[in-house]
Amino acid sequence: AKAAGRNTYQMFTSEMHTAARQRLAIENSLRSAVANDEFVLHYQPQVEPGSGNMVGMEALVRWQHPENGLVYPDRFIPVAEETGLILEIGRHVFEKACRQAARWRDEGLCFGKIAVNLSARQLRQPDFPEMLSAIMKECGVEPGMMELEVTESMTMERPVESTRILGALKAMGIGLAIDDFGTGYSSLSYLKLFPVDKLKIDRSFVKDIEVDPDDAAIASATIAMAHTLEKKVCAEGVETRAQLDFLVQHGCDIIQGYIFSKPLAPDEAGRYLAQQRGR
Ligand code: C2E
Ligand code: CA
Ligand code: CA
Ligand code: CA
Repeated sequence: AKAAGRNTYQMFTSEMHTAARQRLAIENSLRSAVANDEFVLHYQPQVEPGSGNMVGMEALVRWQHPENGLVYPDRFIPVAEETGLILEIGRHVFEKACRQAARWRDEGLCFGKIAVNLSARQLRQPDFPEMLSAIMKECGVEPGMMELEVTESMTMERPVESTRILGALKAMGIGLAIDDFGTGYSSLSYLKLFPVDKLKIDRSFVKDIEVDPDDAAIASATIAMAHTLEKKVCAEGVETRAQLDFLVQHGCDIIQGYIFSKPLAPDEAGRYLAQQRGR
């Protein structure tokens, strides 16, 4: 029994060491990724279903790893958040998105806004609105061309502070959206206070929307509530005609998902926008 106990213990510590080593390896290569500019943004269209107008492009970060190929954000954003590297990565992402916005504008392409995802630590760094303002100025971009997506849980954690920062961003003219809506512990009274323009219905409610009455009820109630508060609603992860029809019937303003397009590399996204213009 004693021997087995020791073996279990050794196995456990060696597993822990492996996990810790892997983490450290990711952290180190993330550091060099920042230095070597290995992050790329892919863009997913957001479409107004009635008119077919483009209202936005969501920027989704990928890590172009020299050996491992394209790495998706779920694999490295959590480590970046824990280590604080997210602040530097987030700044790079915002700057890339601004440069892209300026380029598309100069090419005469209508993209609406470019939406950028934020992590909690970014929102709370000192002088965050001023930093974004400086980047936009440097890139020659109007704040109205940009949008920020913040999650419900991120804002509800410290609602008073968040409301103040969001207010400052809004006053600058940047668009604001609440991401993954419905998955956090939202308080309706705070939602009313948050100066956001848009709610994004999480993909988990869209997935079974036409077969699961609970999901259908949550989605339609979210749309109705958002409209009462004079906010727009974007549904994410829309893949099928049935999902699209349900959402349109219930007044959803904006649709994002594979039914229109997967996230596209910058040159593909540019071609998509050029095609839209020709329609
Ligand atoms: P999210 O903001 O909820 O983004 C939506 C995710 O759903 C994206 O995954 C997108 O590719 C995927 N998706 C879009 N349409 C469909 C669809 O019709 N069907 C299905 N099955 N999936 C769809 P992705 O690109 O892997 O991003 C995952 C998460 O990583 C994002 O979730 C976001 O929270 C985070 N993220 C991405 N870029 C950034 C960034 O620049 N900064 C930060 N802090 N987080 C980011
Ligand atoms: Ca998002
Ligand atoms: Ca989501
Ligand atoms: Ca259910």
